Amino acid sequence: MDFELTEEQRMIRDAVRAVAQGEFAPRARDVDEHARFPAENFVRLAEMGLMGLPIGERYGGGGGDTVSYALTVEELAAACGSTALVYAAHVSLGCSPFALFGTEEQKQAYLPRLTSGAMFGAFGLTEPHTGSDAGATRTTAEKTPDGWRLNGQKMWITSGGIAGTIIATARTVVDGEDLGVSCFIVEREMPGFVVGKDEPKMGLKGSITSQLFFEDCALRDDHLLGEAGKGLKQMLTILDGGRISIAAMALGLGRAALEHATGYSLERIAFGKPISANQAVQWKLADSAVALDAARLLTWQAAWLKDRKRPFGKEAAMAKLAASEAAEKACFEAVQIHGGMGYSREVPVERFYRDNRLTEIGEGTSEIMRLVIARSILRERTDLST
Ligand SMILES: Cc1cc2nc3c(=O)[nH]c(=O)nc-3n(C[C@H](O)[C@H](O)[C@H](O)COP(=O)(O)OP(=O)(O)OC[C@H]3O[C@@H](n4cnc5c(N)ncnc54)[C@H](O)[C@@H]3O)c2cc1C
Repeated sequence: MDFELTEEQRMIRDAVRAVAQGEFAPRARDVDEHARFPAENFVRLAEMGLMGLPIGERYGGGGGDTVSYALTVEELAAACGSTALVYAAHVSLGCSPFALFGTEEQKQAYLPRLTSGAMFGAFGLTEPHTGSDAGATRTTAEKTPDGWRLNGQKMWITSGGIAGTIIATARTVVDGEDLGVSCFIVEREMPGFVVGKDEPKMGLKGSITSQLFFEDCALRDDHLLGEAGKGLKQMLTILDGGRISIAAMALGLGRAALEHATGYSLERIAFGKPISANQAVQWKLADSAVALDAARLLTWQAAWLKDRKRPFGKEAAMAKLAASEAAEKACFEAVQIHGGMGYSREVPVERFYRDNRLTEIGEGTSEIMRLVIARSILRERTDLST
């Protein structure tokens, strides 16, 4: 068993770490405090050719593997959670649907602009009344003679207000018959596409999280992604991949919290000695390190399986669950180790704590991850016994 990263994976990680720590980390507090979209970070990532890292070179992507992509997201998150979320949503949710399910024409039409960073991509699944129960979508796409008419509302859509394309799920209605959920490509400039308010959030404040409205939005036939009625299956495949990046994001936030806590524990003197001399503090550091490292192995395993085109849905859910909960604990303990200072905006651990909360909610909550994992285990057993 080989736990070594390849030369290329190490090079990508080190290059991203240098830029993220050198340029993005110093801006992260300002981004958070002013809820400012860090556009300049994405100019930099585009210059580095990272905006479509795991997408094929034929479509302007980097042709990189999923492990490199996970390393990239972890490094971004360790510097600026908002940048990591926007990047992960753009790649996993904005670009991947085209790569996975687009026709050759759709790939050529949209991917080069997405992978070059000329525009952002977004994915609109969640609606005001439903998120986890994705099949309960109320947005409809009614067949018209020359395409589809989209009506409905989405909410919580990362980069929805600034994206050039949104992959939106909708119930497909043909001659009054409901054919199930399909995915549609909505372009920013289309009449009937309206951007609502930017959600005020507890963390990840530099990311834009939008309400979107479709009001008789007219789509052409070639705005249907893949086959009609296959949208739920497509969406689950897209989310399986996305969960690896949310796991990586949690790892970055948790790692950064642990690093800050370790440094502080060595410097802070209480009762005449550094607080790191106390076993109670050491255990917090040790437990955080163990949980984060275990979750990183799960994350790399899921990425490794995906790169080998082997089933990885259960492993991606396990990685996301373990990493988001490990990071939650690491951030919690980092605040505790900082004492009063942990509650201050002067140190970044409270930001890591707030930013990480999303990783237990977005792209499937922890409860839904447990459901996915349990169903997979039960299915494996049933398959064996039949
Ligand atoms: C910052 C941010 C960015 C986001 N970006 C996007 C995006 O880009 N695109 C997008 O489509 N969505 C996005 N979302 C939405 C996100 O994916 C949903 O919020 C999430 O899937 C949960 O859905 P919900 O909010 O409707 O909660 P609900 O589904 O209403 O769940 C509420 C609670 O009930 C629990 N629950 C529900 N069903 C079950 C069950 N069967 N068993 C046990 N517990 C259950 C949930 O775990 C949760 O704790 C984003 C959300 C946030 C906060």
